[in-house]
Amino acid sequence: MTRTVYVNGQYLPETEATVSIFDRGFLMADAVYEVTSVLGGKLIDFEGHAVRLKRSLDELEMSEPCDKDELLEIHRKLVELNEIDEGLIYLQVTRGSDGDRDFVFPDPETTKPTIVLFTQNKPGLANSPASQKGAKVISIPDIRWHRRDIKTVQLLYPSMGKMMAKKAGADDAWLIEDGYVTEGTSNNAYYVKNGKIVTRPLSNDILHGITRKAVLRMAEEAQMEIEERLFTIEEAKEADEAFTTSASAFVMPVVEIDGVALGDGTPGPIAKRLREIYLDESMKAAI
Ligand code: PMP
Repeated sequence: MTRTVYVNGQYLPETEATVSIFDRGFLMADAVYEVTSVLGGKLIDFEGHAVRLKRSLDELEMSEPCDKDELLEIHRKLVELNEIDEGLIYLQVTRGSDGDRDFVFPDPETTKPTIVLFTQNKPGLANSPASQKGAKVISIPDIRWHRRDIKTVQLLYPSMGKMMAKKAGADDAWLIEDGYVTEGTSNNAYYVKNGKIVTRPLSNDILHGITRKAVLRMAEEAQMEIEERLFTIEEAKEADEAFTTSASAFVMPVVEIDGVALGDGTPGPIAKRLREIYLDESMKAAI
């Protein structure tokens, strides 16, 4: 089955969808994105992703390509056309193309944003073997720019981080700035010690994870103790357990940091419970 994608108002076979070589997303990473998961053919936390998209666009003075209702319709239609039961929807909005290359932003009156969406079919996403095994992470310096709260497509360093992890026999990397963990390459980071969940507070230093928000709310509802503060990788290595959150991997247990096994080296009880609660509640609320 050929995948149908969406580009600037049209649903097309992926082989026929095109974007200009002058598009600022391509030339300058002048673009933002969102990834929404699909479980049971329904969208998980669409509202959260739509609100964060608007915020990213506003922060960069980029115009909205369409309103929220239209966006929902596009998501749903792609799920239907591509028969997605479990998977992801990737959405990208760029500042568009004014037919040349210039550092100065083009006039938004004449240059419209480019919008692209495509699905990724991932059967078994909710019960992935990776989540049952848990992830091994390494720590690397955080050398990204200082507006990590804006979800831009500047993903070269996170990609390099994943490659560094792979070369080291690990699955992912946690980023360190001024001695403290900021977040994972593509997820928010947490450790658990004596039943207390510790994670970095929101600021411009990290992405405001949609999954983070939901998981912290659910942890609170389950009477779990949460502390939002800066933490070091050394603290995390001495933790009972650790985990990450993201829309594409939900709650992912972390079983090893820089070669040090956490607890007995298998996914911890709090991470496992939060994953279950998150999947259960999100599927009930999916639209
Ligand atoms: N931090 C970073 C750097 C990310 O790339 C992501 C996922 N895109 C997250 C955190 C998690 O955010 P969300 O839960 O909204 O997927």
